[in-house]
Amino acid sequence: MAEFVHLHLHTEFSLLDGACRIDELLDQAAVLKMPAIGVTEHGNMFSSVIFHDHARARGLKPILGCEVYVAPGSRLTKSGNPGETANHLILLAETNEGYSNLIKLVSAGYTEGFYYKPRIDKELLAQHSKGLIGMSSCLKGEVAEGLSHLQERKAIEAAAAYRDILGPNNFFLEMQWHGIEEQRVVNAGLPGLARDLKLPLVCTNDVHYLRETDAHPHDVLLCIGTGKAFTDTKRLRYDSRNFFLKTPEQMADAFKDFPDALSNTMRIAERCNVTIAEGENFLPNFDVPAGFTLDGYFEHVVRAGFADRLEKLRHLASVGALRHTVDEYETRLAYEIAMIKKMKYPGYFLITWDFIRYAREKGIPVGPGRGSAAGSLVAYCMRITDVDPLDFDLIFERFLNPERVSLPDIDIDFCERRRGEVIEYVTKKYGRENVAQIITFGTMKAKAVVRDVGRVLEMPFADVDKVAKQIPAALDMTLDKALEENPILRDMEKNDPKVKELLSVAKRLEGMTRHASVHAAGVVIAPSAITNYAPLYKGARDEIVTQWSMKEIERVGLLKMDFLGLSTLTLIADAIEEIKRTKGETLDIDAIPFDDPKTYQLFQEGQTYGVFQFESSGMREILRKSKPQRLEDLIALNALYRPGPLRSGMVDDYIARKQGKTDVKYDLPELEPVLAETYGVIAYQEQVMRISNVVAGFTLGEADILRKAMGKKNAEVMQKQRAKFVDGAKKRDVNEKKAAALFDLMEHFAGYGFNKSHSTTYAYLAYQTAYLKANYPWHFAAALFTIESQNTEKLAMYLGEARERGIPVLPPDINQSQIRFTVEEKGVRFGLTAIKNVGEGAIESLLKVRAKQGRITSLHALCDELDLRLFNKRVFESLAKAGALDSLATGVAGHARETRPRIVAAVDAACEYGARQQRDREQGQGGLFGDSEQTGTNGDGAAAATLPNAPAWTEQEQLAFEKETLGLYWSGHPVDRYRSELKEFGAKAIAELGETPMNPEPADAWIISATC
Ligand SMILES: [Zn+2]
Ligand SMILES: [Zn+2]
Repeated sequence: MAEFVHLHLHTEFSLLDGACRIDELLDQAAVLKMPAIGVTEHGNMFSSVIFHDHARARGLKPILGCEVYVAPGSRLTKSGNPGETANHLILLAETNEGYSNLIKLVSAGYTEGFYYKPRIDKELLAQHSKGLIGMSSCLKGEVAEGLSHLQERKAIEAAAAYRDILGPNNFFLEMQWHGIEEQRVVNAGLPGLARDLKLPLVCTNDVHYLRETDAHPHDVLLCIGTGKAFTDTKRLRYDSRNFFLKTPEQMADAFKDFPDALSNTMRIAERCNVTIAEGENFLPNFDVPAGFTLDGYFEHVVRAGFADRLEKLRHLASVGALRHTVDEYETRLAYEIAMIKKMKYPGYFLITWDFIRYAREKGIPVGPGRGSAAGSLVAYCMRITDVDPLDFDLIFERFLNPERVSLPDIDIDFCERRRGEVIEYVTKKYGRENVAQIITFGTMKAKAVVRDVGRVLEMPFADVDKVAKQIPAALDMTLDKALEENPILRDMEKNDPKVKELLSVAKRLEGMTRHASVHAAGVVIAPSAITNYAPLYKGARDEIVTQWSMKEIERVGLLKMDFLGLSTLTLIADAIEEIKRTKGETLDIDAIPFDDPKTYQLFQEGQTYGVFQFESSGMREILRKSKPQRLEDLIALNALYRPGPLRSGMVDDYIARKQGKTDVKYDLPELEPVLAETYGVIAYQEQVMRISNVVAGFTLGEADILRKAMGKKNAEVMQKQRAKFVDGAKKRDVNEKKAAALFDLMEHFAGYGFNKSHSTTYAYLAYQTAYLKANYPWHFAAALFTIESQNTEKLAMYLGEARERGIPVLPPDINQSQIRFTVEEKGVRFGLTAIKNVGEGAIESLLKVRAKQGRITSLHALCDELDLRLFNKRVFESLAKAGALDSLATGVAGHARETRPRIVAAVDAACEYGARQQRDREQGQGGLFGDSEQTGTNGDGAAAATLPNAPAWTEQEQLAFEKETLGLYWSGHPVDRYRSELKEFGAKAIAELGETPMNPEPADAWIISATC
């Protein structure tokens, strides 16, 4: 067999340039029996971990490298034409030390040298050269560029410089042959250079795609990347179809005159030995107070937290409302503490506890928990979570399984507005270099790739649109699936050669990585600089981001946390603040009763607009049918309301059982305590775990492994688990047939079962919002409107619902309104932030004037002191059209559609007046003519006098202007006069509609509302 290893190769992670899918590529490499294979993306190491693991899984040796960009001078010099600011160079990691160096180099490319491309320079390379092997790269390499431009000196100097930096045995002169004329020139020069400088040769194929036939899709991909049309003669293109994964024989044939260059690929592959270790964890250090060990301090904090919680528990026990004894809590706590210490996670818990405590101290709202962490009593005692795991039978092993040790995963919800403050705290505490956000990659989805390819191929938009519209809208849709499901699309492909080509190219590119961006929640904290563990990337807004996504960050043992922004928490905080401001009442949302009849009535009637997780119309229908009466019912509905259980009929079954229409029977008496809360339906993964525990004697750790296996549906593993289950059940005198049937049932439900811990915390949060809505409807409405004030459609829907519920909403008014929506004696006052085209800075300036003047009586008085740089004519007009300036025309006779245009007509003069006054004051002439004094004390009569005459708006115009500025018709609706007739025809108010998996086609008549 020919001796050759590919050492220069780009996958799809050379974004929009490489077109190799990693798994497909490695499969092919394995088929060709290649002993090793290298990866060298353009300027990044996005794919290193995936490539390493997937290659090893196939018995291939991965060679990790990068095709770096090298600045001609200093990486810090950022000028020049984009084409001349960097040369290519291949760097391969020979040792783990070299791999670490490569990470540092590639990171610096983004954080220090970025200019069109992430660039390093020779100085930096010299600092991090150990353990690296270099190759001179393609025609864009410095050596090749010198040779092809007939500047031999430049070529010699470049090669000598790299030899000196990397060492004589570590720099190779790279030959490529794709049939390109320039390469002929370079390849003719390289052997002489090699002789003179005593440098070895090596050959590569600069692989960019898998098969020769992929040259065309790859070319289209380049066009997508550069935004050019395929026929554009000046665009970037590859002059050859040879950049594919050639076989060793094909390479041997191309380089038969250079046997050394071929065999050197094998030598390099043998020399490169990098392994990304598995099972290591790099937790950041948590400093504990003097006199404490880490474990000791952890236990101290947990015990102190438990003492706090104990007060409430003792009280509940005294009134008979505690399901478990205090002793049971003690036992569970001791068990969890011991287990967490054994797994060496006290530091992890303390880190999490610390920043959550910080958030609470600063009044930043924190959620009650999400995901499986709510299963831990330790987390509850540390206030990492806020629901009692024993009370809801949440299982610790679902979170941390001693029999399958993996880094715990604690995700935290923070108030959307203030999430950044917590990230800032963590960054300061653990060191700026040790904290980063996490990258995420966008891929080309079925519809989008068709549109992209269509544009490049210059097909008429309408034609491409027709094809794209035939692709069903589903999350996991692929072109193959679409063709299988949709005969119209199949016909289009068969009958139209253009469509056939479009689809064939699109299929080849579908699913490939298109761009990198910053993950919305992920934060990674390392014990020292991140670049000691993972390469860094720079986001569009200069965020420092890891080059590896969540999965790989976890894989290499770094601690990642999800800091999510949740607007519901902002809503709750705002409502509580408004309750305090208007009623002087301090509401402790974590101490509200969980048996409030008003709150359950709201759920039972499906009046759940704005209630977290429960507001879709399908959910509201289920609420009305199932009539929840306790938190457990909400937890179950929250878990069941997902496509799987809905489609399978589980939800209907649950409702029928709850209503008593179906008998609830248990095949085994042991099942009753586990399933009674869901009326015999297996709704949670935790129930599967409990059943295997009580029926077959599994430990909860084993039960968690079973739970996971059921989710993955691996036939072989399931066979073993089944035998173990039946065996265990037999030992407990359960008849074999019954046990087997039960196992099958669990397996069936496991696909639908949901994490109860997560469902519980989110149902708890839902209850809190519903409690506010039921007991403080105006305050809840004000907070909800504020949260949605920039989302016109939703705001209109919520305003409509509020009106239907009899909550008066008062119009915007510069003499009454605040930035946000507020509660007044007579109703909820419109917030100024919801008016279109009016910025927050403008509103703040206006409120300052109001604070000073008490009441703004005229445009002149307002302009006298307003920051007019923030207030152009458009802002005034928007305010007037929204009705927010109506109070400046108090005392002026006439309807709003007569006075509003007069206010608009007065704006220019008032602004001029204000500018003049402010200028005079600045120049020390303020008050010379007494103008400002006079205006300031003007009564309503005088205000009227300053309003010029202007033609009145029609009613239609007034409504249109309201819609333009408020997003909705305020003082009426164009179709109001048909309202009653339409209702008779079965029209629904807009608040009755919404996305739902159950009723995709909602309306059978007109959709009307006074607010839409
Ligand atoms: Zn290159
Ligand atoms: Zn390349």
